[in-house]
Amino acid sequence: TSPVKPQEKPKATPADPPLPRQNSKTTPPSPPRVIVDQNRQVQYYRVGFLGEGGFARVYEVADGRHSAAQHLACKVVTKSSLKTKKAKTKLYAEIKIHRSLAHPNIVRFQECFEDDENVYMTLELCTSGSLMDMLRRRRRFSECEARFFLVQLIGACHYMHIHQVIHRDLKLGNLFLDSNMNIKVGDFGLAALIENPGERKKTICGTPNYIAPEVLFDTANGHSFEVDTWSIGVILYTLVIGRPPFQTKDVKEIYTRIRDNVYEFPPERRIAPDTKDCITSILTPDPSKRPTLLEILKSPFIELGIVPPFIPVSAHDAPPDFR
Ligand code: ADP
Repeated sequence: TSPVKPQEKPKATPADPPLPRQNSKTTPPSPPRVIVDQNRQVQYYRVGFLGEGGFARVYEVADGRHSAAQHLACKVVTKSSLKTKKAKTKLYAEIKIHRSLAHPNIVRFQECFEDDENVYMTLELCTSGSLMDMLRRRRRFSECEARFFLVQLIGACHYMHIHQVIHRDLKLGNLFLDSNMNIKVGDFGLAALIENPGERKKTICGTPNYIAPEVLFDTANGHSFEVDTWSIGVILYTLVIGRPPFQTKDVKEIYTRIRDNVYEFPPERRIAPDTKDCITSILTPDPSKRPTLLEILKSPFIELGIVPPFIPVSAHDAPPDFR
C-alpha cells in the first residue's frame, strides 16, 4: 500500500483514496558512482541499489575513509523534487527529527550533505531487508517471534516518544532488520515533533492499513503519540495472522472497518487468548483508553510468554524452535 499524501487541510471525511508520495513529474535521482561530501572531504562509492520510495532512492555505499570499507545506506533526493517550500520543509523536518535520534533499534542517521543535483543522507545499513520482506517469505510469525519484535519496537517507540517524536508511519515495511535480526525503525518521512505539551497534530497521514481512527475521524481534535501505539497493534496482528486486521481491496472500506473496529481472528490460526487480548486492547478506538507502551510490556502476552533473547538468522526462511 502506498502512503497517504499528507494534506495541509484535513478533510472531514477521508473519502479520497490515498495518493502515493512519488511525484510522477519528477525524474528519480541518478547519483554519480562516487558521491562526494565536499565539506567533510569524504568520498562514498556507490556499490548497490537498496530500494526506492517517495522522492528518494536508497543506495548501498562504501565509505572511502575506511580501508576495510564501512558500508552505509545513502538516501538520495533530487533537488528538482524540492522546488516547493512544502517539499523542502518536509525533507528538513525528516532530517532534523531523524538525526536527533540515537537508539539501538532505530536506523542511525550519520551525515547529510548536498551537491548541485541532490541531497544525500547516509544511514546505518540494514542488510536483511524489512519485516515485510520476511513476512512474505514466512507468511506469518510465531507468537514467540512476535513478542521479540514487539519488545524491540516498543523500546524504540518509547525512546521516540520521550524525545517528543511521533513516527506516524510504523508498519512492517519501515521496520528493517540488521544482520542479527534486530529491528531498526526507519523512514522518518512522516514523523512529527511535538514542540508544546498537549499539542495535537492535524495532518491526515500514514498508510491506510495502519492509520489510527482518530487520524481519520477526529480531525477537529487532532492526534498525538497514541497513533503509534495503534500501529503497533496492527503490526502485532499482522505478524501473527499474516495480513493486516482491516485489510480489503478498497481503501474506503479499510477506513470503514477502522472506524467500526471490525476485524476478526481466524480460528484456524489458534491465537492464544493473551495474544488476542493484547491486540484487542491496543486496537481501542478511543486513543485516551489505549494502553501505554509500558502497559503493553506488562501485559500477560509479554510477561507470561517466552521472549527469546535473540532470533536466529535461519528465521528468515523457517520458524525457529524456542523450546
Ligand atoms: P521513502 O521515505 O522515500 O519511502 P525509505 O526510507 O522508505 O524511502 O527507503 C526506500 C527503500 O530503501 C526501503 O523500502 C528499503 O528497501 C531501502 N532502505 C531504506 N533505508 C535503508 C537502510 N538504512 N538500509 C537498507 N535499506 C534501506
